Order: sequence, then structure tokens, then C-alpha cells
Amino acid sequence: MLTSLSILALVIAVIVLSTLYLWRSIDRRPVPSADAADVRTNTVAEARLPLGERRIIPESEHRIARQALDDNAMKVVYRLQDEGYDSYLVGGCIRDLLLGKQPKDFDVATSAHPEQAEELFRRARLIGRRFKLLHVRFGRDVIEVATFRASHDSDDNDGEHGRQAESGMILRDNVYGTIEEDALRRDFTINALYYCVRDHSIHDFANGYLDLKQRQIRMIGDPEARYREDPVRMLRAARFAAKLGFEIAPETAEPIRRLGPMLTRIAPARLFDEPLKLLQSGHGEASLRQLKRFDLFRTLFPQTDAMLDSEEYPVEALVVNALANTDRRLAQGKSVTPAFLFAALLWYPLQRRLQELLDEGGQPTLQCLHQAANEVLGEQVRSTAIPRRFSTPVREIWELQLRLPRKRRADQLMEHPRFRAAYDLLLLRENSGEPLDGLSQWWTDYQNANPSQRDELQHDSRADQPQERAPRKRRRRRRKPRPQTHD
Ligand code: ATP
Ligand code: MG
Repeated sequence: MLTSLSILALVIAVIVLSTLYLWRSIDRRPVPSADAADVRTNTVAEARLPLGERRIIPESEHRIARQALDDNAMKVVYRLQDEGYDSYLVGGCIRDLLLGKQPKDFDVATSAHPEQAEELFRRARLIGRRFKLLHVRFGRDVIEVATFRASHDSDDNDGEHGRQAESGMILRDNVYGTIEEDALRRDFTINALYYCVRDHSIHDFANGYLDLKQRQIRMIGDPEARYREDPVRMLRAARFAAKLGFEIAPETAEPIRRLGPMLTRIAPARLFDEPLKLLQSGHGEASLRQLKRFDLFRTLFPQTDAMLDSEEYPVEALVVNALANTDRRLAQGKSVTPAFLFAALLWYPLQRRLQELLDEGGQPTLQCLHQAANEVLGEQVRSTAIPRRFSTPVREIWELQLRLPRKRRADQLMEHPRFRAAYDLLLLRENSGEPLDGLSQWWTDYQNANPSQRDELQHDSRADQPQERAPRKRRRRRRKPRPQTHD
């Protein structure tokens, strides 16, 4: 009786335990779906896949919030898809969203050719020859739509759609292709992530998701060949290292110093946006460090670079302070202008040339300033473009530097549209170590003063000597060398 009871208890215990075990193991099984197996094997693996092989990162893993996606970019993507074209959000926006940063802009990649896409949008414009794109406008917002591109067929380097120079530089880049090909002709792996709006997954063809997690900037393909195709990629490597605080993978970093001089072959017009993005996007100081590390500052600002070690002028201090000041202003949501940046970076090349002209004698100061400004700006535009809308204010900021010592004209000077920028440059100059005898403090006090205090400041300054910065004593030029005496 007792044994049959214990056998029964044992059987019940076995049944309960095995049911429990079965139930728990069933519960652990993921909900099966059509492509679940595919997704699982692709995402769990941390191993690198061969270049061009697709890895799908599901929404449950990347966790980009849907509200973070730009409405206008989504409208463009959906419109293209409704017409039967493949389309994805791509590039920097996906990289930045994965890093929890606010993207600067949203780009779309599609299988539609630019002309096909153009027909779908009312406010769309085709731009670019070297690289044809569609701009779709929503008020002030512009969504850039690029057709999937293939790399160049090396046998056909002078085609209608793609053109490559002897040096390897791509002159025209309008050879269309598949999404896989498009991914591989992008620059860095972290910039080649595609967001698919059908299931909100990310498609990765170059191990960019892993590099992002490992905070690595890695060129897709052979770094040297890719820099030769487009030397601007060297500036972009420096920029992303500064902006994201990532490491540049050793093979990606290695060719930059060697190939940096290739940047001089780029049309200066293309070299306006990229230097500004480096120096005027909130990470200017970090960018300067990267540019100097790779000797790229020299190609962008040769005149300034040549003076960085100057003993006569505090060039390096001014450059660093100007960039730190710009970073600070941007962090505070204040505006910045390229004119101020160029005025500051080129201030000492201008000063040196101005002094040479003054020393030569024969021309009034203002005329010397204009000549020096022409020469310095003329030299600079061989390296980067400076559109006229910025070069004119640069000249005005410089001219005001010569007028700021005239304290008697203070009220009139304060009316000048560039006064604020000129005062900021004066502050930077003095803070960087230029001996200005407290001039910037005087201007700070003057602006903060009430009318009677201003009278007092004017009165005190009249008592001070000298009021204006005396030009450096001219050296007497000898007509002839003194005859040598041999007695
Ligand atoms: P950000 O917008 O923060 O400046 P980004 O990576 O989005 O960074 P864009 O200039 O907007 O830079 O370019 C969009 C995308 O186009 C990049 O992410 C990259 O995939 C590709 N791209 C841009 N410039 C190049 C280039 N010179 N060579 C190859 N691919 C490029
Ligand atoms: Mg972008």
C-alpha cells in the first residue's frame, strides 16, 4: 500500500516537473515569424561579415525611436516606395540617431534615377553635375535624394556618367547601381547604414554597426584608393574623429599624411563647406587637433600654418581661442559667421604683410591695409573658397581693428554693422597675448557704461598716452650700401 502510494507520488512529481520544464522551455522560444531566423543569425553574430553582405539589425536591437525620424524625409521615402522604387534613409542621420545625437540633415537613397524622382515631387530641383542629386524642399527644410550609385568600371573611365582622372580622382560620379554597390562606394562604414521604413530595420553592408559600437572610423575598401578617388574624404575622416570622438582605424589613418597634398587639386569652391563643417560646427578645437595631426591644416590655411610657431605674433593662441570661442557660442545657441572665422585665422598673416608694407613706406596706412588684405585673401582662395558675401565683411572687420584705437570716435564706431565682430576679434587678440594696452577692456567698459561714465572714460583716455597705436618706426632705407673702407 505504502509503496504504491509512493510510486504514485513519484509519478505525479515527474509529471509536474516535466510539465513545468516543458512550459518554461516553450516560453523561452521566440515568436516565430517569416524572417525571424534570418534576422537572428544576422544580428546575434558580432563577427564581421564579408564586405557587401547584408546584415539586418531589427528595431528591437537598434532602438531608434520612430518619433526621431524626420517627417519630411519620411514623406519622401514613402512617396518613392508608393511608386515602386526602393528607398531608405541613409548616411549621417542614421549614424547620429544611433549615437543619440540630433542629425544635421536627413538624406534619402533610392533606386529611382534623379529625373524619375524629380517627377514625383512638386518642389524638387536637380542639382550637381559631378554628382547629380535631387533636392526636395519643404519650406526651409531640404531633403537630399541620391540614386544608388555603383563604383566606376575601371575599363570605362571616360564615360558619359562616370569619369576618373589618371590620379584615380573621380571627376564624375553618376554611374547608377544596386543598394549593395551604393553602400560600398560610400566613405566610412558608419556612414553606410540604411534605415528601411517597411520594418524599421537597419541594413548594413560594411560592418558599420559594429564599427559604430566600437567607435571606429573605417574606410570602406582600400583607404589609399578611396582617398585618391576623392581627397576630401581625408578632411571628412578628421571631421568625424573630432565630431564623434571616435578613433580612426590605423589603416584608414595611415595614408592621410602622405596623400594630404592631393587636396590642393580639389577645386577651391568645393573646399569651402568642408573646412567650415570642420571648424564651425561646434567641434572646431577638436578638429584643429585632428587637422594638425595629419598635417592638413597646412593645406587649408597655408599662410596661418606657416606662422604657427611665430615668436613675433601669438598665432597659435589666437587660432585656438577663436575656435574655442566659436564652439562656446554654438553650444550656447548663438550665431557664428564664417567672416569672423576667416578674419581671425588670417589676422596675423595680414598683420605681417601690413607691417612689411608700412615699413616700406610711401603709402598711407589704410591703403597698405587694403593691399595687404587683397594679397592675403588672394592667397587664401587658392586653398579654400571665400565667397564675396564673406570676404567683404572680413575686410571690414580688419579695417575696424585699425579704427578701434580711436576712442574719440567710439559712438560712431559702435554704429558700424561689423562693430560686434570687430570687438570680439579685439578681445581675442588681447586675450591671446597681443600687447594692446587694455584696449579691449576699455571697449568692454565703454559699452557697459552710461552716458556720464562714457564721458569719463573718454576723458581718461585723452589723458592716456598714446591714444592710438603708433605704427612701428619706419626703418630708414639706405640708398646705397656704405662703401667699405680698407684702411
Ligand atoms: P553630416 O551631415 O553630419 O555632415 P554626413 O555623413 O551625413 O555627415 P553628408 O555630407 O551629409 O555627410 O553626406 C551624406 C552621406 O553621403 C555620407 O554619410 C556618406 O555616406 C556619403 N558621402 C558624403 N560625402 C562622401 C564622399 N566624399 N565620398 C563617399 N561618400 C560620401
Ligand atoms: Mg548629412
